[in-house]
Amino acid sequence: MTRQEAILEARRKQEAGEFNRAVVKREPADLNWDQLILECGHTTAWTAKIHFTPNPPDKQICSECAKEWVEQNIIPKP
Ligand SMILES: [Zn+2]
Repeated sequence: MTRQEAILEARRKQEAGEFNRAVVKREPADLNWDQLILECGHTTAWTAKIHFTPNPPDKQICSECAKEWVEQNIIPKP
């Protein structure tokens, strides 16, 4: 599929929860932000200030896994 098609498919998969990853560790990164380490090995940033809740959810969407999926599913036209 083309890059555009792969992105649309990745969006569908994200909506379906296919890029949800369990949070395995939470480390303070600076005064406001924490770094969340996900089960896939990727990380994401999280702050209580934006989310209005003291603790992050058990699962996060991993945009790095989504990006990798897109790159792996682009088939260049011959
Ligand atoms: Zn990931």
